[in-house]
Amino acid sequence: MPAQANTPPASSDPIAVDTLVVGAGFGGMYAVHKMREMGLTVMGVEAGGDVGGVWYWNRYPGARCDLMCVDYSFGFSDDIQQEWTWSEQFAAQPEILAYANFVADRLALRPLFQFNTRVTKASWDATRQRWIAQTDRGQQIEATYCIMATGPLSVPKDPEFPGLADFKGELLRAAKWPHDPVSFQGKRVGLIGTGSSGIQIVPVVAQEAGALHVFQRTPSFTMPMRNSALDADYVAELKRHYPAIRAVARASQLGGVRPVTSRPFFSITPDQRQRVMEDAWARGGLDFLGMFSDLLTNPEANEHVAEFVRGKIGETVTDPVVAEKLKPRGYPIFARRPCLDTGYYESYNLPHVHLHDCLEHPIERVTENGVLTSAGEVELDMLILATGYDGLSGALMAFEVEGRDGQTVRTKWVGGARSYLGLMMAGFPNMFMVCGPNGPAALANIITLDEQNVNWICDLIAHMRSTGIATVEPRPEAEDSWMETVFSLAQLTLVSKANTWYTGTNVDGKPRGLIMYTGGFFRYNEACTAVAQSGYPTLKFGKAMVAVG
Ligand code: NAP
Repeated sequence: MPAQANTPPASSDPIAVDTLVVGAGFGGMYAVHKMREMGLTVMGVEAGGDVGGVWYWNRYPGARCDLMCVDYSFGFSDDIQQEWTWSEQFAAQPEILAYANFVADRLALRPLFQFNTRVTKASWDATRQRWIAQTDRGQQIEATYCIMATGPLSVPKDPEFPGLADFKGELLRAAKWPHDPVSFQGKRVGLIGTGSSGIQIVPVVAQEAGALHVFQRTPSFTMPMRNSALDADYVAELKRHYPAIRAVARASQLGGVRPVTSRPFFSITPDQRQRVMEDAWARGGLDFLGMFSDLLTNPEANEHVAEFVRGKIGETVTDPVVAEKLKPRGYPIFARRPCLDTGYYESYNLPHVHLHDCLEHPIERVTENGVLTSAGEVELDMLILATGYDGLSGALMAFEVEGRDGQTVRTKWVGGARSYLGLMMAGFPNMFMVCGPNGPAALANIITLDEQNVNWICDLIAHMRSTGIATVEPRPEAEDSWMETVFSLAQLTLVSKANTWYTGTNVDGKPRGLIMYTGGFFRYNEACTAVAQSGYPTLKFGKAMVAVG
């Protein structure tokens, strides 16, 4: 096995493998496992110090998955799902990271990865029909196939606040949280950002901090998670039914087990609707998404549900002025990623938690002592940035990826990310993406999608190897047609109607547009399967110019 060294010395000798996998999140972990299972040599490269991807980096207080762990876990190995026992319905970051480590140990994945290493450039050598990658350790890796498992949320958005370097207090980023414990005890803590990350941070930091100042620009809709410990009987039932549960997940809209309905909002009486919403609120979790069939397509139905949630904010937050500021308006509920929280709105009833409305008083700059808004300076000992990510396309544009004829991903995606099935790109032979843009990405359970994507890629590689095909890339017309499908489906959903990382509007200069497939996981999987079953007519195959290794 060529890649044995987790912290290798720099070497000038090229490393040759069949497959290079970039990223050791769940997608990358499954990819190296499958490649080895297929008898291919594989090397995984990961910038972090260990496996886990986003769960390796995001150690901020309160970090937790807002998908139930029954969904957010691997289904490919019954041994693994029988041996691992989740303790809570919605697992916290340490438990998810422990799970990633368990899987890595169980499958002996670590020797296949080189950690603390970043790929700085990858280019296609058309003559040798290989990808040539450079790392920040001065290594060269040559591979027939390159799998980019770089994650949809791995590049934090650049903080655009002037004066950040002047801040004399502690500056922390949710997306790159320190590994050592952080104390908030008695401190004046500032938090910028109230997306999924910020909403999880607030209640935890509020318990310890002397004062917590939350700088909110766009309020998010968040619903109670109502997390619970899993008792032994429940876990035993879960384990007994895992195969059926996974089958349901794979056949579902979101790639997870969730209530679904074909009932439109206005098909029942106002009283009945109120009862349905009250029940969903009381149950917690993402049940809201399965209450009515037209929440993401009928703006009027959507507004009724949004108003219901605003009502709950008004009932929870005792200061009516603060409650009003927390109520999201001007975009459809669920058009931004729905957040789940534990005690978020309740935190604002604490006397030392202060909400600063940045729509009314924008942040002007960070100062030596804190944050200056148009309403004045807020003095802080610590500032936490939970300002989000350059999502979906950011990771593959963060370094140079050069395909055929010198075309780079940066130039190809200058008008917005383009791909075929979110898996491949015309002009980039033998390169595959896991959870890439224009697939379901963040709109599906990512681990189910990781497995589906990697399985599809492996089937294709197996097909190539058994038929003597050396190279593959999508036909440009197939990519155009897929992009047309992605765009036309996006027009049908309210998900495209908000300013979010989903639509790229959170990053200055990024082209606006929903670059996710909104037809649902199941239909996406059907589309991918149909391509394979029909013998890949949408792909362009090339014969070997040289012997492939
Ligand atoms: P996010 O949803 O993009 O939220 C970023 C927040 O920072 C927004 O409130 C944004 O306000 C604010 N912000 C950004 N720039 C700002 C500025 N210049 N001034 C003031 N406010 C600014 O990022 P995130 O919370 O990290 O979440 C990203 C995604 O990660 C989520 O959608 C989810 O998919 C995933 N995630 C999941 C979990 C989970 O499973 N529980 C937890 C965390 C994250 P504007 O909206 O006004 O720009």
